[in-house]
Amino acid sequence: MNKERSREAFARSQRYLPGGVNSPVRAFRAVGGDPVFVRRAEGAWIEDLDGNRYLDHVCSWGPLILGHAHPAVVKALERRLPLGLSYGMPTELETALARKVVESVPSIDLVRFVSSGTEAVMSAVRVARGFTGRAKIIKFAGCYHGHSDGLLVKAGSGAATFGSPDSPGIPDGVTRETLVLPYNDAAAVARVMEEVGHEVAAILLEPVAGNMGLVPPAGGFLEFLRDVTTQRGALLIFDEVITGFRLGMAGAQGRFGVTPDLTCLGKVLGGGMPVGAFGGREDVMRVLSPLGPVYQAGTLSGNPVAMQAGLSTLEELEKPGFFEDLDRKTRGLVEGLAEAAGSAGFPVCVQSMGSMFTLFFHEGPVVDFASADRCDRSRYAAFHRGMLDKGIYLPPSQLETCFVSGAHTEQDLERTAAAAREVLVRMQEEAV
Ligand code: PMP
Repeated sequence: MNKERSREAFARSQRYLPGGVNSPVRAFRAVGGDPVFVRRAEGAWIEDLDGNRYLDHVCSWGPLILGHAHPAVVKALERRLPLGLSYGMPTELETALARKVVESVPSIDLVRFVSSGTEAVMSAVRVARGFTGRAKIIKFAGCYHGHSDGLLVKAGSGAATFGSPDSPGIPDGVTRETLVLPYNDAAAVARVMEEVGHEVAAILLEPVAGNMGLVPPAGGFLEFLRDVTTQRGALLIFDEVITGFRLGMAGAQGRFGVTPDLTCLGKVLGGGMPVGAFGGREDVMRVLSPLGPVYQAGTLSGNPVAMQAGLSTLEELEKPGFFEDLDRKTRGLVEGLAEAAGSAGFPVCVQSMGSMFTLFFHEGPVVDFASADRCDRSRYAAFHRGMLDKGIYLPPSQLETCFVSGAHTEQDLERTAAAAREVLVRMQEEAV
């Protein structure tokens, strides 16, 4: 596979962009080799600058549940673009998308749009603190909530009393009120809530974790968090930036039947445009400016082009059978991958939910960050390179989720499973 043009483009980009990219994982450092530079994409396929084609299981890290350049979305945007790109004034598109969110996600009475998942979570945390008048936030190791200062916190050992920054540039004070606990560990949460529950503004989590690979919540974990927050007067915030409109119109909360106070959305909601949102209970959301004192704002929030992309995307998802088809197709793929994993001769386990899945180079099960962290990352790197050479694009890092979109055909997915089988067998032969 000739990747000369991508290689040259990467060399040029490094002259002007730190590491040649605008988001670090794109630089391929976790898997080695050079990143693929994209020329165009359509449906389930990406074409690079050299004309190589890849079946895409990253889907722009989750937003593209319809695949690339879905005709209905593109057509709606073509009609929209000549009308202006941004006004900084209200439009009915915002109301239309907000109504769709509120009608799809029963826990959301009011919603505010922002431009990224990071902003959505950062703002939801501010609202929770403003509403409760408390400072502490409990989060879980391995859950990612964007790169805002207060949430980039190192995983502590055991029941941490206060978090320390996970990046230089964040003062200690900013993360002092963020407590980090192990995912799926109800006992640890119970202990901390017993001790400092009255100071906790919110428990924040990905209800199905996607940022340590795909890790489902243990049975009863979400229900426990709902109960303990209610008992202690804290809020429960679901970060559904990945799972919102991915695991169904009502997201993970719809699947598990657990109702958070606040929900963060992004990715699919914008259909590939920069959109995030946070919303929830009316009494909580009413603390937000201009109704209440908690300040939050954005020049491009509710941008009309982005709103249109989101609306047109959600309209496609509402068509009968969309999620059933997507989930059924993914189950077929996951069975194929599990079979391939069985022939690998070294430990690989496949975890999935809906149209999300991860191959962990680990005997499994992966239930939290500590178990995810035991994966053999160099094997994943070899697997990633092998799959890329076969024209299958997987996330360039082990602890990420792969996606299936509505544009993937069963034939496409058979191709992915067959490639995985060949790459794993070859890895075993070459004792990688
Ligand atoms: N929350 C979750 C669960 C995410 O997966 C991400 C991004 N991967 C974010 C928040 C941050 O979103 P963004 O990259 O749009 O700022």
